[in-house]
Amino acid sequence: MPQATTKLNAFPVFMRVEGEAVAIVGGGEEALAKARLIAQSSAVLHIIARNAEPELLTFIAEAGAKHVAAAYDASQLEGAVMVFAASGDEALDRRVAADARRLGIPVNAVDRPDLCDFFTPALVNRAPVAIAIGTEGAGPVLAQMLRGRIDRMLSPSLGALAALAMSFRNAAERLPRGNVRRRFWSDFFGGAPARAVEAGDFSQAHEAATDLLLSDAPVHGRIALVGAGPGAEDLLTLRAHRLLMDADVIVHDALVPEAVVAMGRRDAERLPVGKRKGCHTKSQAEINALLVELGREGKRVVRLKSGDPLVFGRAGEEMAALRDASIAYEVVPGVTAAFAAAADFELPLTLRGVSSSMVFTTGHDLKGNSLPDWAKLAISGATVAVYMGRSVAAEVAGRLIEAGLSPDTAVAVVENASLTNRRRFHGTLADLPSLEARADLSGPVMTIIGDAVAGANFERSEALAAHRHESAPVAAAEGVQP
Ligand code: SAH
Repeated sequence: MPQATTKLNAFPVFMRVEGEAVAIVGGGEEALAKARLIAQSSAVLHIIARNAEPELLTFIAEAGAKHVAAAYDASQLEGAVMVFAASGDEALDRRVAADARRLGIPVNAVDRPDLCDFFTPALVNRAPVAIAIGTEGAGPVLAQMLRGRIDRMLSPSLGALAALAMSFRNAAERLPRGNVRRRFWSDFFGGAPARAVEAGDFSQAHEAATDLLLSDAPVHGRIALVGAGPGAEDLLTLRAHRLLMDADVIVHDALVPEAVVAMGRRDAERLPVGKRKGCHTKSQAEINALLVELGREGKRVVRLKSGDPLVFGRAGEEMAALRDASIAYEVVPGVTAAFAAAADFELPLTLRGVSSSMVFTTGHDLKGNSLPDWAKLAISGATVAVYMGRSVAAEVAGRLIEAGLSPDTAVAVVENASLTNRRRFHGTLADLPSLEARADLSGPVMTIIGDAVAGANFERSEALAAHRHESAPVAAAEGVQP
């Protein structure tokens, strides 16, 4: 998709309308709908309609709008900050739009996007907080649906809380900039003052906010070791999302996609620390030291790791360093790559009567001479998930076969599990070594081995064996020695 299609053609802004005139030309349903929308603001409505329908007349009386009961004339628009052409008559709407433009007033013509300088949003109103939803006229139904969803998400007392916040703004300005001030506001909106407003106790809310303002407790840093999941943004947990939204600093591995990191607070500092195969930007000791330093500075840190932080994530070392430095931390689990790969393959990791245990391993511990214990488990029927196994695929297969596992044991491989560019391969243990030679696999790869793999869905996967036979001539053509 070209970049242009992802840009907004209409940019949302909030326009000051307090006490200003907003002119609506029209006497029917369309005019009434716009009048109802604008009446949610403190603008002064001017309804220009020689023949207004009864429902509109009732509305005008109730809302205290000004009714100009005369034939339309451009002079009636003068002084307005916006104009709505809502007559339902195309020729008249065109005239109104042209007049408004001549007078330098932005205009909206109902159901005639070509005549519009601006569009009206679907509105969630918790004054002074407003959430405006726009689709550039493409999907009013979609906009209403989103409006309903957002409306349900937000407490009815949000407006009152925001109003209370406004009354504390000057006082909060006197707090030191940065961490301390941000912490005040996040405790204000997420702590005791918010709870008191929710309960309808405004004096208690005021008191709680004043306490927060006066509290000079030292700011403690807090580190969260957070699992980002396998890559798809919507496999992030709600807790991970909340912490990301609240973070001062996000320290992330290279495997965590940009889209997930981008779900963090917009002005959080983002520190990539690499750790992709072949591009270690920081050593583990440097990462440990960085987390300790950020904790001592009182920062709220999200240490974002792909999958689950406790699975091949070197979290053990980071937690030890934090404990040694007496810095508080918590761990938030994530969907580990093996689970995402299994889901992509509809592969039952445990299967009644076939496999009742599972092994998380990495091929890299096969390097020594002694066979690790997990090989024995594989032979007794465990499902084996191999992390970081691509470059040692031949070693893994060879050693398992040598230990007694049948070369016909089923194998499933997923590159970029959970992502839209995922690729699936299936085959047997004997086919597995072909993985190493594949230059076309550039994403992370998960390999699952065991009899339970036979229960997977192979409809969307390619055969590993096909590649084994084809790869030899390709390699030869490229001058690679087989
Ligand atoms: N903590 C992570 C694992 C980090 S080790 C987790 O719980 O998933 C890195 C390895 O994880 C990669 O070499 C690959 O084997 C696996 N991996 C991570 N993301 C993956 C994905 N989207 N698809 C397939 N494998 C993935």
